[in-house]
Amino acid sequence: MEFDDIDFEKREWVPGSSWPLTKADLSPFYRRAAELEGVGSLAQDDDAVWSEIGAHKPDLGEELEIGFSRFCPEPKFARVFNSELHHSKMILLTHANAVSLNFSDETATLVQNISFRSLNGREGVVAAKIFVLCLGGIESSRFLLNQSHSPWNITGLVGKNFQDHVRCHAARVLPSNAKADNWFFGPLPLAKKYTPKIKLSAAAQHRHKLLNACGMIELHDDGFRTMRTAVQVLLGPAVSVTARQLFAMTVDAPRVLLQRYRSRTTPAFESALADPFLLVNCEQPPESTSSISLSSKKDTIGLYRAKIDWQISQWEISTIRAYVRFAMEFFESTQLAQIVPDERLFTDKVTDLIVDHFHHCGGTKMAKSQNHGVVDPNLGLFGTANAYVCSASVFPSSGFGNPTHTLIALAIRLSDHLNSRLS
Ligand SMILES: Cc1cc2nc3c(=O)[nH]c(=O)nc-3n(C[C@H](O)[C@H](O)[C@H](O)COP(=O)(O)OP(=O)(O)OC[C@H]3O[C@@H](n4cnc5c(N)ncnc54)[C@H](O)[C@@H]3O)c2cc1C
Repeated sequence: MEFDDIDFEKREWVPGSSWPLTKADLSPFYRRAAELEGVGSLAQDDDAVWSEIGAHKPDLGEELEIGFSRFCPEPKFARVFNSELHHSKMILLTHANAVSLNFSDETATLVQNISFRSLNGREGVVAAKIFVLCLGGIESSRFLLNQSHSPWNITGLVGKNFQDHVRCHAARVLPSNAKADNWFFGPLPLAKKYTPKIKLSAAAQHRHKLLNACGMIELHDDGFRTMRTAVQVLLGPAVSVTARQLFAMTVDAPRVLLQRYRSRTTPAFESALADPFLLVNCEQPPESTSSISLSSKKDTIGLYRAKIDWQISQWEISTIRAYVRFAMEFFESTQLAQIVPDERLFTDKVTDLIVDHFHHCGGTKMAKSQNHGVVDPNLGLFGTANAYVCSASVFPSSGFGNPTHTLIALAIRLSDHLNSRLS
């Protein structure tokens, strides 16, 4: 899913919100990313999706609007690019954990080589003209914090402003007329390719001083866990399936199969069967108080472990509550459904309903100057002449959208920059 225009803009009511790039700067790279991800043939423009479905885009009023996310047919890029990697001239070192960036001398900015270590103690060094650290949303900060010479951290920003997406099981949905617009309540006719997300409009964010958020109506059938174990058993890696998972799958499988069978054979939507609920995904403030720091314990390769302090502020909570009120107004005024908020939503037990979303962002923020960030708009690591960071840790703000598509767009943009730099 692409981030919205507003996610890149300076929002006066959201401190630290602007990216040093606009959506227009990233758009060509989003298109190239879609090709790599195997979704290039899908409609990239949401309006085109409506034509493809043969339906009109619904008007959700002033506070909400509809958008779509797209799913990769093969989410494991190791499989997608397996043959390309095998046939390329690239040398791929596995089990080689980077442990230190080594400079030509202590004061210089030129990284000369990188040391690596395997879990069984083998060590080595790789020299290069340019280094790109693609270590993931938490590890990028951890790796940089672990370095004794760290010119990128003179402002102490590495690991700061960590963000995830807040995922809230906010309300039950009681459909009253699900047949009329049943795409709200389940997969689209073109199932799996496009998933509808009910977004907070940019105007509503501005008007009510809210963060970005979206909601989805999910079907609460609990079958996901069972199907995931079954896929793991059939397609691997089966060795990683635990006895507990196997037991749960065996107990649950008959119910899931029956439910799937009934949902196929029952033409009308069966709310009692599927028990739909409203799931709200919310942005966290870019200047969050969450952080990644180092613990006093080391891991097997000798790096200090990460310590993560993940905070949920009142701002996310008020955004989620406002979102649920808007959804109640829309679904009830259109008589599509009744939205029944969980009784804990408007109490101090609201965090019982909230989980994280594995969308780790922030920690090595992108900014125009080192006073405000850790990498520059080309993802160049401040304080170095030839090192880059390519991870969602560079996102200054994180919207509500799944991060990987934006990260791949940034990676392609970086590869263009490196190509021109090297030539
Ligand atoms: C369960 C789950 C579901 C998700 N679903 C979605 C989704 O539907 N859509 C979406 O957009 N995002 C999703 N995400 C988030 C997505 O996985 C990340 O945004 C994405 O993987 C980030 O890519 P990356 O290359 O920065 O990091 P990673 O994919 O984490 O890759 C970093 C790599 O660096 C390696 N590494 C780390 N440290 C070192 C070191 N010192 N030396 C050498 N190698 C190192 C790691 O082993 C890893 O292979 C999901 C995440 C999880 C956990």
